[in-house]
Amino acid sequence: MIKEVILCKYGEIVLKGANRASFESLLLKEIKKRAHAYGNFQVTHAQSALYIEPQDDTCDLDGMFEAAKRVFGIVGVGRAAVTEKNMDAILQTAREYLPACMAGKRTFRVDAKRSDKTFPLKSPEIAAEVGGVLLATVKGLRVDLHHPESMIRVEVRDRAAYIHADQQKGVGGMPIRSGGRGLLLLSGGIDSPVAGFMMAKRGVEIEGLHFESYPYTSEAAKEKVMELADKLCAYTSRMHVHVISLTHIQEELRDKCEEDYFTLLLRIFMMTLAERCAKQYRCEALITGESLGQVASQTMKALTVTDSVVNMPVFRPCIGMDKEEIVSIARMIDTFETSILPYEDCCTVFTPRHPRTNPDREKVMAELCKVDFETLLDEAYATMYTETRLIYDSYR
Ligand code: ATP
Ligand code: MG
Repeated sequence: MIKEVILCKYGEIVLKGANRASFESLLLKEIKKRAHAYGNFQVTHAQSALYIEPQDDTCDLDGMFEAAKRVFGIVGVGRAAVTEKNMDAILQTAREYLPACMAGKRTFRVDAKRSDKTFPLKSPEIAAEVGGVLLATVKGLRVDLHHPESMIRVEVRDRAAYIHADQQKGVGGMPIRSGGRGLLLLSGGIDSPVAGFMMAKRGVEIEGLHFESYPYTSEAAKEKVMELADKLCAYTSRMHVHVISLTHIQEELRDKCEEDYFTLLLRIFMMTLAERCAKQYRCEALITGESLGQVASQTMKALTVTDSVVNMPVFRPCIGMDKEEIVSIARMIDTFETSILPYEDCCTVFTPRHPRTNPDREKVMAELCKVDFETLLDEAYATMYTETRLIYDSYR
């Protein structure tokens, strides 16, 4: 039986100088953590690549392969057959292993590399022989050196030789936890999971904060948010989601403040509570799914007001994206179908008919004085509870 390994190529990390090792070690740790779910694998790194080697026959290589594509920091994932370091073994393995990998492909190229210079054949000779085997084994296949549909690589290394089939794209980005920790304001909508994904991709460890408004919002609406967190876990592997009730705040705003300012006032409460939560859980920034001009609370003036109540950076990776672009990322990360389930969000409870798009900060603050800001904040913050979502749970 052919022994296969998975090989992952890193992206941007290779550009790092002195602190490259710390990025590599985060990446290695993350891959090892993922590998646990798929069996007994050994993970090692050498020359800007990670090797994931199954240690017994029960390992789920397909599952591990798919998981590796979702680890931030990895730009390419491929499978390779491992063989003894002699030409007979290499050609025999190529004959058995490659035809299935070439299914549907018409042209190919073989590149060879020997880091073991004592190997009797030179790289071009190895490539030519493996190419010859392929031409003889797979009907209709042609060599195309410039635009091959399939790139085969043969590597002769110290311990063994590897025959690599085509690589697939990895998610890219930076290893998780290399970029600090951020608190994602996670609604049930399309945008906020995408915003969380984008920041996680830059190495930010994501915690979630969801605002509910029970009984105006339902248990099902909250479960939908947890499902979104599960989907993000395919990339982040773990996520704590804090939940705060806004019910009383919303009732107070509805009863005491001018309707047109309702949304903006609510957002002031949300951002203030989010900052408090971020500080408690040592998050250094807030993350939202806001996109400029999408709704009344996302105009430049409205965002200026919401920014002014917090003292930490607010990252809005969707700010310059069209809905269509956000949707295409949501589809890619598989959150879209969950996001469009028709449950209510606290932002849609008591929505004003004519929300202010051009709010005057003085007037907003005057409206805010009509409610007991501090007491409402404390009371809402006291309702907070936390759920932890794990990648392994979403496999069940
Ligand atoms: P989304 O698709 O993310 O819901 P949206 O276009 O519906 O975005 P809003 O409802 O105005 O926009 O919310 C803007 C941002 O505020 C959201 O992207 C999210 O980060 C945050 N937010 C909105 N509602 C909630 C909520 N119930 N809990 C936590 N954060 C929320
Ligand atoms: Mg929303």
